[in-house]
Amino acid sequence: MLRFTLPRDLYYGENALDVLKTLKGDRAIVVVGGGSMKRFGFLDKIVSNLKEAGLRTELFENVEPDPSVETVMKGAAAMRTFEPDWIVAVGGGSPIDAAKAMWVFYEYPETEFEQLIKPFSFPQLRRKAKFIAIPSTSGTATEVTAFSVITDYAKGVKYPLADYNITPDIAVLAPEIAETMPKTLTAHTGMDALTHAIEAYVSRMHAPFTDPLAIRAVQMVFEYLPASYEGDKAAREQMHYAQCMAGMAFSNALLGIVHSMAHKTGAAFSGGHIPHGCANAIYLPYVIDFNKKNAESRFADIARAVGLQGASDAESVDRLREKIDAYNAILGIPKTLKDFGIPEAEFKEKVANIAVLAVGDACTGANPRRTSPEEMEKLLNCVYYGTRVDF
Ligand code: FE
Repeated sequence: MLRFTLPRDLYYGENALDVLKTLKGDRAIVVVGGGSMKRFGFLDKIVSNLKEAGLRTELFENVEPDPSVETVMKGAAAMRTFEPDWIVAVGGGSPIDAAKAMWVFYEYPETEFEQLIKPFSFPQLRRKAKFIAIPSTSGTATEVTAFSVITDYAKGVKYPLADYNITPDIAVLAPEIAETMPKTLTAHTGMDALTHAIEAYVSRMHAPFTDPLAIRAVQMVFEYLPASYEGDKAAREQMHYAQCMAGMAFSNALLGIVHSMAHKTGAAFSGGHIPHGCANAIYLPYVIDFNKKNAESRFADIARAVGLQGASDAESVDRLREKIDAYNAILGIPKTLKDFGIPEAEFKEKVANIAVLAVGDACTGANPRRTSPEEMEKLLNCVYYGTRVDF
């Protein structure tokens, strides 16, 4: 039995936040990250809309980037005291991801965190509350996905949680919120969305329901990302929708090894964290070359959908890879991990272990080509030095 799950409702466009005025219930908890939603006045707007609906409102603030198990447990405890019937998560990926996990422990306080690590094994939610997600960035698409990433800092491990129970009930795409993204974040999150769409389209789990969403998302990212990067408001709005469509695709078709590599390299080096979308953007052209052995016609479909027609599928795939390289250049994204600034000695010391971890990542299973740790190590070397993948 296969399944395709999306939020029940999606509100978008001008005044999308007005949907909050129409909610039925008694209490809403608003889960939010740092100060930017407050600074730009969106938090006040959200709270006042909820009050207009007659809901008592409480805030759970300061969810950190890469939210911790502790934050999740604190938020769940706050929910158990306040007993909201709506959870309203606002911000980038982190507060929304954290709120999804809080939701589980609010409804099932006796659950152990370890029990949630097994994918698609969550208890039935919505006994106490429903969930609204309002994203402030245009990339992770967590507002429509069945995923949440929580970090156990004591163990130094990131846990990707996955279950359709945590797919939100309502996603609100308010373009004015995404307009406030800084330029670099716009570039990184936009390339994250492109990676979601491409990995979903070539995934072993791709389906008739996910393909059109993935293809249209790729077309829209190529069309709107450069102008969105330059701050064009109309383009920002279209990117906000494109990333959401990519999310609808990958929540159901899953991802591939671009994400496996990004997950396991993101915090691996002492020189600093590689932002998720930036890592994906660097790796994507190399992984296309690696995966084309098994998915050439699928990549060629994508190429043709964006007007890149070679004399053969192989040539079309080359054009697609070159186009992604060109976008990375426009967006100020380096070509290699070396250019990103990872020291060579540290890379050499860690690459074998990272390769093993990347192969073991939850995203590897849906990748179109089976990947051994040896191949992954070779691939990571190509990504570091900028050599062409030819194996
Ligand atoms: Fe991603």
